[in-house]
Amino acid sequence: MLLKPAIATGLYPQKTQKEYNVYLSISTTHQPATDLGFLLHKNPSNVHETSLSFGRAVIFYPEATEKKCTASLMLDIDPIDLVRGRKGREGESLLDHYVNDRPYAASSFLSVALARSYREALNGTSKQRQELADTEIPLEATLSPLPCRGREELACRLFEPLGYKLQLESVLLDDNYPEWGKSAYKTLKLKSICKLSDLLTHLYVLIPVLDNQKHYWIGSDEVDKLIEKGGQWLEEHPERDLIATRYLKRGFSARATKKILDERFGITDEPEENPDEEEEKLEKPIRLNDLRYEVVTDTLLKENVRKVVDLGCGEGKLLKRLIQERQFERIVGVEVSPISLERAERRLNLDNMSPTQRDRIDILHGSLVYEDNRLEGFDALTLIEVIEHVDEERLDALERVIFGQAAPPRVLVSTPNREFNVTFENMTPGMLRHVDHRFEWTRAEFQDWANGVCERHGYKVSMIGIGEVHEEYGAPTQMAVFKR
Ligand code: SAH
Repeated sequence: MLLKPAIATGLYPQKTQKEYNVYLSISTTHQPATDLGFLLHKNPSNVHETSLSFGRAVIFYPEATEKKCTASLMLDIDPIDLVRGRKGREGESLLDHYVNDRPYAASSFLSVALARSYREALNGTSKQRQELADTEIPLEATLSPLPCRGREELACRLFEPLGYKLQLESVLLDDNYPEWGKSAYKTLKLKSICKLSDLLTHLYVLIPVLDNQKHYWIGSDEVDKLIEKGGQWLEEHPERDLIATRYLKRGFSARATKKILDERFGITDEPEENPDEEEEKLEKPIRLNDLRYEVVTDTLLKENVRKVVDLGCGEGKLLKRLIQERQFERIVGVEVSPISLERAERRLNLDNMSPTQRDRIDILHGSLVYEDNRLEGFDALTLIEVIEHVDEERLDALERVIFGQAAPPRVLVSTPNREFNVTFENMTPGMLRHVDHRFEWTRAEFQDWANGVCERHGYKVSMIGIGEVHEEYGAPTQMAVFKR
């Protein structure tokens, strides 16, 4: 029981390790082992919390003696509770959550948390023990739960060439019911004699590589980080191409991907263009994005909305527009992607806001296909260019959450008008505006869906076209304004 000492000392009373789902422990036996605290810039006698947009990272030392010292980073991510079944909904198996809800994959969260919590150590700097930071010492990392079913061999191919000894153990589905068997998740133990910054860098880059799912939210600066953090070891790694392509091609910045693959690794690969840039390029001549935010803000102002939630707020562009209007007393953004959340925080400069401004706004991590009582009690919810990113078969769930449970007086939903696409140069028939779009609706299809929502939940709807209207194909963006 890793946590026992900390719990026993009363340092860490709230949760036991079993309740935390994602963790990374780092140990050393280099003596005095407690110097690990200087390397990580975290005092072993304290519990350290880093707040992240998608939850919090808690670091503490279950073990801190001269001989051995272990720092554990635990992630407290709400949606993972869903997987544990505590908030699981009827009729949904726990596994479904994992299968369908990859935005919650531990891997990308853990990499973000690691970079945020151990920034100095990752960069190889230590205020008080620089010499030790530059020294190779015995280190052990334990990482769990790692989504790597069937990829045990991949873990070896990634870590062994870097000099690690590996041990992979299956995580039980539920410790209380061992008869249920093993889950698809593993605990990975890595041992090596190396610099701490090397270990952290390897983990930072390779954790997402092990996860075979799409991390479409990670943006172009990730590539720079890969180059920066990957450095020499990546160039010399026998699986260099695989690491570069898997890391980058999970939907990361495609233009930069091409650049790095071509120039740095000599891999001639034709990755798709950066989806966000592509969509912007298509729509640029009409500056549709800005116009959308203006129309939404205007509509909310006219409807006397005071408290509003922007669902799927992305990088917070609409939030930034809304906060300029004093009428909005309470503004909340909800977003599923941790990277977008980080960007939204930066865009809004939350840390440097005056306390009065800061009280008006919050950004939360959440998914709109799960009931969430944080969405209740608002005058309006907005979903701007979001529904087309949700699988069509999950729209019912989204509808229940928004119109059934939260059920605010006003809901604004905008989505592309597919008919308009033929007017975009560079778009071939049948192509959608963004690679992550699951569908794009004609005006009639959108109206149909909206009518159904009204019937099922007692709303009335009116449609607004946003952007320059084409005589035959209508406006590029269509927005439904639902009123209850
Ligand atoms: N509304 C923003 C961003 C639109 S892009 C704007 O207009 O600028 C769509 C956004 O929806 C992305 O940031 C994506 O991460 C988010 N998203 C997709 N599915 C989601 C879900 N189930 N829950 C919450 N956000 C989601």
